[in-house]
Amino acid sequence: MHAVILDLLMPEMDGFEFLDKLRFDSTFKELPVLINTGMNLTQDDYQKLNDKYEKILNKSFVHPDVLLEELAALVKNEVRRNHIHEEAEADHVSVLLVEDNQFNQKLIEHLLSADGYRVSTVSNGEMALEMLEKEQFDIILMDMQMPVMDGYEATRRIKSSEKHKKIPVIALTAYAMKGDNEKCLAAGCDSYLSKPVKRTPSFL
Ligand code: MN
Repeated sequence: MHAVILDLLMPEMDGFEFLDKLRFDSTFKELPVLINTGMNLTQDDYQKLNDKYEKILNKSFVHPDVLLEELAALVKNEVRRNHIHEEAEADHVSVLLVEDNQFNQKLIEHLLSADGYRVSTVSNGEMALEMLEKEQFDIILMDMQMPVMDGYEATRRIKSSEKHKKIPVIALTAYAMKGDNEKCLAAGCDSYLSKPVKRTPSFL
């Protein structure tokens, strides 16, 4: 089995419950899940789904390639705008990726390193703060929903640190959660990108 296409509204066990069970099973926890729903997802629904899926298809679906391009462009723009490297080229830019979802980690690492960025990845806010003490980064891509320390708290701490506050933080927010983007900016993020920042797996 290579992937699951999942409806959310089903009798007996719905898609939410199925996804919870799937991700708790070590055999299937990284199996790509494509949610195919006509449902208009609420903020609560997205919270329940918290990164346990690879992609959601719905009416307002934006092609993932567009998001990938936006990500690369945004990283370059942020670095330029902040004058961290006046003549910034991708191969001089080091990115700290803070993301707990392994599928997202791999995909974003792949995308950025293919474009010549240096990428270090950690999986929660606490590890990000430790990493910042050890190495220099030009930009931080920050998932918001993570265990141990979430992206909001990590961003607040980064932005209240004299040493780190100039590093641009780009929030990775759940797709279509409008209220969340404001929350990210309030926490100190410089900008945000909507997830899924994903490409269709080649076997689909
Ligand atoms: Mn997450």
